[in-house]
Amino acid sequence: MVEDFNELIKEAGEVYSENFDNIAWFGRCIFMSWYCDLGTCKFCFRSTTKHKIKHAKSAKRSVSSLLTDALIGRNLGWRIEFLTGGYRIFSFDEMLDIIKKVSHIFQQKIWLNLGVMEKKQLEAIKPYVEGVCASIETAEPKLHDLICPDKPIKPYSDFLKLAEDMAFKKSMTIVVGLGEKKEDIDYLFDFIEKHKLERITFYALKPVRGTGYTKSPEPKYYAWWIAKTRIRFPKLEIIAGLTPKQPDYTKLILDAGANAITKFPVLKKFNSPETQLIEKMVKDSGREFVSVLNKLPEIDWDKKIDELEFDDELKEEIRQKLEMYLKKMKK
Ligand code: SF4
Repeated sequence: MVEDFNELIKEAGEVYSENFDNIAWFGRCIFMSWYCDLGTCKFCFRSTTKHKIKHAKSAKRSVSSLLTDALIGRNLGWRIEFLTGGYRIFSFDEMLDIIKKVSHIFQQKIWLNLGVMEKKQLEAIKPYVEGVCASIETAEPKLHDLICPDKPIKPYSDFLKLAEDMAFKKSMTIVVGLGEKKEDIDYLFDFIEKHKLERITFYALKPVRGTGYTKSPEPKYYAWWIAKTRIRFPKLEIIAGLTPKQPDYTKLILDAGANAITKFPVLKKFNSPETQLIEKMVKDSGREFVSVLNKLPEIDWDKKIDELEFDDELKEEIRQKLEMYLKKMKK
């Protein structure tokens, strides 16, 4: 039987409405560094020589920069999707310090996507972290081994099992458009079920020159994965990435049952035609958008910084960074 796409989206939308409030938000992913020490996943911009030359291993993002990012997000209703960054760039103690600080800014436990962690590390982050994410990218085992040769699934599976035992929430990331087939969705469903995931983040592949990939998946195909997952897992939190140049399928992915959108360079494109289109499409989908992507509200930023329990030097660095970011956002 041929599947009717509109019917599928309608059903997914109904399942969403039965299980969630009528809102949507922007999930901000905060990067700790641009370099990845693994750097071998075939679709990823961090695997390209150009990227490796441009971003040296030693080039960490400054702590004040990523904390400023968090402070802006916290005050504009962006929810932290996760704190992430390339593999093996910061020491664990450095990461722990950043995790504590970001959690303090958001005044809540946060999500992490920082690779596989050991039990001792999970114990240390527990007071500040709600959930951890496994970036599986594709759940079809053969395709996975081909595309992510140095990031096998098994250690992630073990990690999620450990996280489950320690009462963390769990999530995964999936990229649509890597060469998977529709029938591979069963591998994905098995993974979600096996690990009792509470959340999933989908991304539409963004082709990067030098990776061999040349096109993004069709929006309908991308929405098909989201809709099927929504119907199969009514209570799963689904976050769906956009591609910066084409956020015009925001409505479609919300209609397909995504809770939130992510992966949009919002600091760079704040109050742009693209962010205006995103807000309009959220409205068209009938959801209330609880994040600000366009009009900057009046906020007493000095007060917000003064309230932080950081030393004066760090607060001053945040103040300077914030001034720079806000200047760009007001343009
Ligand atoms: S581990 Fe992540 S950041 Fe590193 S190359 Fe693979 S997909 Fe890219």
